[in-house]
Amino acid sequence: MNYGIDLWGNNNFLIEEGVVKVNHGNKPSLLEITEKIKATDLKGPIILRFPFLIQKQINTLYNTFQKAIKENHYKGKFNAVFPLKVNQYPQVVESIIKCGKDFNYGLEAGSKAELIIAMAITPIGSPITVNGFKDNEMITIGCIAAQMGHNITLTIEGIGELKSIIEIANTTSLKVPNIGIRIRLHHQGESYWSKSSGMDAKFGLTTPELFEAIDLLHKNDYFKYFTMLHFHAGSQIESIKPLKKALREVGNVYAELKKMGAKQLTKINIGGGLAVEYAQHPNKRLINYSLEEFSNDVVFMLKEVMDNKGVEHPDIYTESGRFIVASHAVLVAPVLELFSQDYQEKLLQLKDTNPPLIEELINLNSSLTKKNNIEYLHDALDHLESLLTLFDLGYIDLRDRSNAEILVHQIIKKALYVSKDDETPSLDLETMQVKMQERYLINSSFFQSIPDYWGLKQHFPIMPLDKLDKKPLRAACLWDITCDSDGEISFNPDAPLYLHDVDLNNEEYYLGFFNVGAYQETLGMKHNLFEHPSECTVEFNDIDYEITHIKESNNMFSIIESIGYDSAQIMTTLKNNIAFSQLIREEDISETLQTLEIFLYQNGYLRTTHQETDS
Ligand SMILES: *Cc1c(COP(=O)(O)O)cnc(C)c1O
Repeated sequence: MNYGIDLWGNNNFLIEEGVVKVNHGNKPSLLEITEKIKATDLKGPIILRFPFLIQKQINTLYNTFQKAIKENHYKGKFNAVFPLKVNQYPQVVESIIKCGKDFNYGLEAGSKAELIIAMAITPIGSPITVNGFKDNEMITIGCIAAQMGHNITLTIEGIGELKSIIEIANTTSLKVPNIGIRIRLHHQGESYWSKSSGMDAKFGLTTPELFEAIDLLHKNDYFKYFTMLHFHAGSQIESIKPLKKALREVGNVYAELKKMGAKQLTKINIGGGLAVEYAQHPNKRLINYSLEEFSNDVVFMLKEVMDNKGVEHPDIYTESGRFIVASHAVLVAPVLELFSQDYQEKLLQLKDTNPPLIEELINLNSSLTKKNNIEYLHDALDHLESLLTLFDLGYIDLRDRSNAEILVHQIIKKALYVSKDDETPSLDLETMQVKMQERYLINSSFFQSIPDYWGLKQHFPIMPLDKLDKKPLRAACLWDITCDSDGEISFNPDAPLYLHDVDLNNEEYYLGFFNVGAYQETLGMKHNLFEHPSECTVEFNDIDYEITHIKESNNMFSIIESIGYDSAQIMTTLKNNIAFSQLIREEDISETLQTLEIFLYQNGYLRTTHQETDS
């Protein structure tokens, strides 16, 4: 069982000796890294960041495009910016800038706050592009960035924004930034997010508006600032065909504009959209193209259009974000509980004389073998049904019912176990597995950590960090710790997730959620006041690795403050209530206060594990 790592893993991780290892440097296992962090007494879920994977993606993007440029004898250059909305976390953006330095990799901003980050962090000279709706303040900030010496392009999404740029530039002494124009294409992408393109798209200028814009630029002598034509076909473009159509369209618009005298226009920005494979099962594969194919298509198509119209090849800009950062982050979350552990054999309390059907179950349980397992399984289920009816009618008591449930669970587990090496498991057993799903309680909030699962039913690869040399037998349904029934990843027979039967009294069991580095972190919701999990960066040197930037998830005080409570006042109230409570002795009062205070300074995730509750 390799959990589809060959589909989604991109050779970033590998399974060896029963554990999943980082395929880099000294190849530590994710379990080892997790245990090192846990030794610092950090509890709850944690995001492990691997900057080497950001480096890998940036290198791949540039090298592949540069190769396509060379092979197609294309005359323009390749450039790229990282769209901040995909992940604005400082550890991530710092890594991006560091990894992209040699390529002059820049940043894209879609809001005022993102623009401020871009201005402060982008090296002078590397490109900054600004998309999205802009007010006068945002345009002024863009002019200030230009004044600082930034290579900044404000992409206008509508005529109003162009008017504002001209007005602001005319009334201040600030430098005029480069102007980009986003065009509305008639070709539409085919992904969830393809509302970004097409005639009814939220963004971009229609053809008549484009003429209006050209007119405005001419009249105000601003044509010289118009340098970039922009489009964005939507995120996670899983099929390349619509993109090709869009490229042809945008290429023709570019060539026409050049012929209309847009001298400084030298760049086509093709937006983002490079897809990431999230599938764990071959039947769920999402992407039908490679980066090689993508870059060749872009370069070839633009070359063809330009050559046909006798126009110089433009420089190509991309704003791919998901492709750059999705793989760098792994969410590791401990399993807190397996619900069928309630049915342990040791909890049986058989009577001196049991109802005959219970005796039958005892018999089936002790004599089940590989040969008779299906037959016995059927018998056991029939018996259980009869026993439950007998209970409803008052013929057996609650103790008998508990014994029956335990025995049947044991029989199912045994039946699964004895047939675990079967090449083709019987249909009955498969159905049984699905019916007898194990529910795993995960110390994490799906709303916070994989919001696109909740919002869009997007799948993320999931696998345990160890036991990978043992066949997992339990059909798994995952529950998060929010009090919301939507915080559940149910078992899907069409793309099944099987996990191991573990005894959490004796061992930890961690699940890794992979490819969670794009969009999830700031999209995450504080449902039930579970906040961004703890995070850290794993950096490799020549011989070893180092865990740096460990940042624990916010404590309860800051969580309640973040939604507007006055935490000092809350503390005072709690203190007073304790003082006036029935606790009489001074030491008891102060001890209770201390306990409470310790708890309030911990992060909001669950802390106790089985080992600790049992001892
Ligand atoms: C969101 C966005 C991107 C990034 O898209 P990815 O699918 O993450 O590559 C790029 N450009 C624009 C204008 C965007 O809105």
